[in-house]
This record gives sequence, structure tokens and C-alpha cells, in this order.
Amino acid sequence: MERVKLLGIGIDTYNFDEALEHAKTVKGQVVTINPEMLDYAGKNLEFAEILNEAELVIPDGVGVQLGLQILGYKAKRIPGIEFAKRLIKEFQDRPVALIGAKPEIVTKAAENLKQEFPDLNLAYVRDGYFENTEDVLQEVACKKPELVLAALGSPKQEIFIYKLKKMLPEALMVGVGGSFDVWSGKVERAPEFYQKLGLEWLYRTVKEPKRFKRIFPALPLFVLKVLREKWS
Ligand code: UDP
Repeated sequence: MERVKLLGIGIDTYNFDEALEHAKTVKGQVVTINPEMLDYAGKNLEFAEILNEAELVIPDGVGVQLGLQILGYKAKRIPGIEFAKRLIKEFQDRPVALIGAKPEIVTKAAENLKQEFPDLNLAYVRDGYFENTEDVLQEVACKKPELVLAALGSPKQEIFIYKLKKMLPEALMVGVGGSFDVWSGKVERAPEFYQKLGLEWLYRTVKEPKRFKRIFPALPLFVLKVLREKWS
């Protein structure tokens, strides 16, 4: 496996099991990257540095997978939500922290996870709508979790984890986007048919048309930028 560069950001081309092993061994920050994040990193150097300092960067969706393929790299997407669930399973006997989403959502997600993994040790659970980030960072660090899942959306969750990493160097931390919404049962994941074809984004856009303006023109522009990188 190798870390390859896509639009200036290093991305790891592990398969699911290799990525899991790497995360468990190396610990630190895991980023599940998508074209919108790459676009933002192109405009914000500080964010780009956070991504490039992450211990593991995995291609979350079909967009980044396609980008890597255009550059000639063999890579398969690793859905962040599945990766995070697997980590919970692996860390269920160790302290875990969940931070993010609306209060009733994170509470329900925690309840559902506890049902699925009765031994799960949830050392810290809180919503993602707070004013004082420093206080929350201190609170989490005090609980000494070994796995931290932050569902604050991007770039908030990556910045949050980057700061927390300095306080908890032994922990494994993943930015999980909208995963708590799905685990709470409030938002449905796309049916398997769409997942298999890599068309979850299409399903989500049809269900929630306001996402349309997030994806377009971002996706075609992303492909154009990758092509420019390839030909330059
Ligand atoms: N969120 C949060 N705090 C904020 C903004 C967002 O906790 O200040 C949560 C939001 O409730 C949702 C999650 O962040 O549960 C991710 O949202 P989004 O749908 O943007 O995620 P993505 O599409 O990136 O997976």
C-alpha cells in the first residue's frame, strides 16, 4: 500500500481490513475524505495541513475513489460509517466517546449502540452544538477515551480532533459526519442496491434535494481538477 496524493492531499489506498489494522496500531486521527473536503483544503492551507498530518486518510465515497482511479491508482472506497461501526465493535471493552449531532440524536444513537454492543463502555456522550470548544476538549480528555467518534460535520470535526489529539496522543479518533443521525434511526442509509453501485450520494440527494447544491457543481469541478492534475 502507499499514500498517494490527490489534489495535494495524501490518501491511503488500503483495503478495509488493512485500514482497520493500521488504525488500531498507529492510533491518532482518521479522516474519511470526500471531494468537498478536498475542495475546501485547496482553499484553506490550515485545513490541508490538518489532513496531511492525519495518521490515516481513507476515501469515503465514490467521488474520491474515481479521482484516485483517474490518476491511475487502484483504490476502493471505505464507507466511513461502516469503518466507525467496526471500530466500536473492536473497542467495546475500552472507554469510547461520542461527540456530535443534536442532543436527542446522540442520546438515541448511544442507546442503540448499547443495545447492539451491551458491553460498550461509553465514557463520554454529548451533542455537537456547543459554544466553548476548549471546555469540551478538556471534558473529553479527562475521561481518557481510547476511541473518539466526532460527528460535527466537516471541517469542524477534523479541527476538533486535531486539537484533541495533542491532549490524548494514545487515542484513536475518527470524524464520522452524519453517522449518529443514521445510528439514531432518524436518517436512513441508502438501500443496499445504491450502496453497491456507489450511488448513495444520488439517493441522499433525491431524498434531501437541498443537498443538490452541495454536490453540483462541486463533483464535476472536482473531476475536472483531477484531470488537470493528471495532464499537468
Ligand atoms: N453537527 C454538529 N454540530 C455542528 C454542525 C453539525 O454536531 O455545529 C452535526 C449534524 O447534526 C450532523 C453531523 O454534524 O449530525 C454531520 O452533518 P452533515 O450531514 O453535514 O455530515 P456529512 O454530510 O458531512 O456526513
